[in-house]
Amino acid sequence: MKDKTVLVIGGGILGLASAYYLNKKGFQVTIIDSGTIENNCSFGNMGYLSPSHYVPLASPGIVAEGLSYVLNSKSPFYIKPRLDMDFFKWAWKFYRSSNQKTVEKNAPSLEDLLKLSRHLMDEIRADIGDTFDMETNGCMMMCHSKAAFEKELKVAEGGKKYGLNTVILNREELQKYEPDVELDIYGGVLFTDDAHIHPGKFMHAMKNYLEKAGVRFQLNTTVTGFKKSASGVETVNTDHGDFQGDYTILSAGSWLGKLTHKLGHPLMIQGGKGYSTTYENVEKNLHYPAILVDGRCAMTPWKHTLRIGGTMELSGLNDRILIKRMHGIYESVKKFYPGLKIEFPTIDKIWTGLRPVSPDGLPYIGALNGFQNVFVAGGNAMLGVSSAAGTGKLISSLLENEKPEIPIGAFNPGRFS
Ligand SMILES: Cc1cc2nc3c(=O)[nH]c(=O)nc-3n(C[C@H](O)[C@H](O)[C@H](O)COP(=O)(O)OP(=O)(O)OC[C@H]3O[C@@H](n4cnc5c(N)ncnc54)[C@H](O)[C@@H]3O)c2cc1C
Repeated sequence: MKDKTVLVIGGGILGLASAYYLNKKGFQVTIIDSGTIENNCSFGNMGYLSPSHYVPLASPGIVAEGLSYVLNSKSPFYIKPRLDMDFFKWAWKFYRSSNQKTVEKNAPSLEDLLKLSRHLMDEIRADIGDTFDMETNGCMMMCHSKAAFEKELKVAEGGKKYGLNTVILNREELQKYEPDVELDIYGGVLFTDDAHIHPGKFMHAMKNYLEKAGVRFQLNTTVTGFKKSASGVETVNTDHGDFQGDYTILSAGSWLGKLTHKLGHPLMIQGGKGYSTTYENVEKNLHYPAILVDGRCAMTPWKHTLRIGGTMELSGLNDRILIKRMHGIYESVKKFYPGLKIEFPTIDKIWTGLRPVSPDGLPYIGALNGFQNVFVAGGNAMLGVSSAAGTGKLISSLLENEKPEIPIGAFNPGRFS
């Protein structure tokens, strides 16, 4: 494919992963991004590679749980009331997807993608070198209450059919796994197939690798429109001129809805805002990344560095920081780990990013409705890091007309049309 050119719109982890596999196949790739690729959603997240997350975000009980939080300003879930037809349509589809039948239908496809990606991340590490602190010691699901623990045991049981390995731990056993920090936790489950990376370092490593491999980066350039031909996109219009490619990949994260609108086939996407803060020089740090199940937030250690983060705020495409949401995260962490010596961060130390969330929690991977040369790689929601490698690999197979590595029907971008 040496003579074929590809424009990748969006340089988050989905865009870079797609570029990586396309470049390997010999395509000439240009990544166009409206920023500098130094701080999009793919940087300040928790960095989990989670085959354990086979239950999609849209699942039974999620809507009721969300609504129960709405009046609490520190809650892990927030919807900003607003008159927005796209949001209403998305919310309706999300509500309709949050049932057992849909979960049972979608979970195997999601798990296939997560497992493929987990395996590919080992290959990428071997290929580009590990400068991104990848660790393969699993992920702890920490439960403060007995009820949450019992629910988590069911998730562990359900994971057996996907071959997921777990270790069930009571309070005393957990404390042995985390000897340096006092815990106040009822019990936990260690999912041993999970791993984690430092996502910001990974993004830098991947960008450096791609630059050396000949991928072009057109930064500070916003895609503003498209000139269509009978079968696809002929020209991509930007605020820095027009670009042409044989193929166009749409990987613009939470802005995918806006972009696909310009093509007349808007995809349903909402930005699910999350927050994090990162502590350096933590003397007595965690040894395992941990999801605080009934605290609805997460913690990732890298040697003496610790990141805490979480929340899902549906308030549109903005980067406004609601400090009370960070308070909610901090208080949960202190409740689970009373012995951890960390201070509440100043506002300049709070990071925020927008997860691209589809109504069923599954990504969009495949050709955009009605186009032969436009493909979508996005909408990976809470699992963009965990599923980027597999998504990129699938995109490269689709462009080559090769059989995809896993069945991709569930990810069809046209599934809500
Ligand atoms: C607090 C938090 C914790 C998380 N933890 C994890 C985790 O542990 N594991 C996991 O798997 N996932 C996690 N996620 C989710 C993960 O971060 C996202 O799914 C992922 O980063 C999305 O990547 P993306 O490439 O789709 O989008 P982005 O990283 O947002 O990149 C999209 C890019 O498109 C560009 N763009 C947009 N519009 C245009 C345009 N018109 N023209 C040109 N460029 C454009 C933007 O500038 C941006 O650089 C977390 C998210 C948050 C918020």
